Amino acid sequence: MDDVKASILSAIGNTPMVRLNRTGCRNIEIYVKLEYYNPSFSIKDRIAIGMIEDAERKGIINKGDTVIEKTSGNTGTGLAIACAVKGYHFVTVMSAGNSMEKAQMLKALGAEVVLVPQQPGEDTDTVSRKDNEAVERKTDELTEKLQAYRPNQYINPVNYLVHEYTTGSEIIKQTDGNIDAFVAYIGTGGTFVGISSALKKFRKDIKCYPVEPESAQFLAGKPVITTRHKIQGGGHAVKPPYWDESLVDGYLSVTDDEAINVARYLAAKEGLFTGYSGGANVAAAMKLDDSMKRGSIVVTILPDTGLKYLSSDLYKFDD
Ligand code: PMP
Repeated sequence: MDDVKASILSAIGNTPMVRLNRTGCRNIEIYVKLEYYNPSFSIKDRIAIGMIEDAERKGIINKGDTVIEKTSGNTGTGLAIACAVKGYHFVTVMSAGNSMEKAQMLKALGAEVVLVPQQPGEDTDTVSRKDNEAVERKTDELTEKLQAYRPNQYINPVNYLVHEYTTGSEIIKQTDGNIDAFVAYIGTGGTFVGISSALKKFRKDIKCYPVEPESAQFLAGKPVITTRHKIQGGGHAVKPPYWDESLVDGYLSVTDDEAINVARYLAAKEGLFTGYSGGANVAAAMKLDDSMKRGSIVVTILPDTGLKYLSSDLYKFDD
């Protein structure tokens, strides 16, 4: 019975890492960590259970309490699983600009879903800064009204600490420490800050590169043209409160088309079915090929599954 887990929560983390074999890169090898192997098919399960157990340890929540979170869907599904198993009522607030698979999945997992309509003039299938701000206002209002506990992944240090202690140390172990660079798309920044901290503590010379949409290179200090891009889960042109510039060796950016084309390549040629941000991460990693020494190893993340985007144009084909 050693192999029977006490609950699905014990199946979070320890995800596989896979080498890409058909990138066409001349100098670098790219290794991807398959975060869609987590129980709700995204990297966010890690921080969901981390933030809930942290609040339990501090005596902030007790069985039956209401937990609320603003999310693009992935932290929501992670929290929904944690709350279902542990007996909390979970309310998730999200923009209608996120894919509907996420909202449907949240409902199936027992969450109460509050969808905030997109702001006038904003495109479907995208979550702009304005949309994001509307979700923030609604979350504040409901948190007060429901007297709910809001883990708040945007400011909760558990977010990046979980990545430092789990995702980051898994990466070091899986590669035997043979890593030259790490690349990650920025939403809350938890993935980048946590993993980069672990890598830099292990070896200072591992280069770490945040990834932003080409139209919203906010952290890179460039003018934001628009936050109406397709790479869901980030690129909102906000600086994470725990952002640490000393971890950054340079900024990378990708267009919607680059993210989409690389996600399609990953699915069709490598058998890796991921979302927009997975495509963005690998597209960004490929951009390091010209500047790195032959044989360099670049690690990145596939944050979630392509199944969460079937209703978007990511995997819509003409024929
Ligand atoms: N990709 C997806 C699909 C996400 O949902 C998120 C988080 N919202 C990210 C990337 C970015 O991760 P982080 O919040 O850790 O920066």
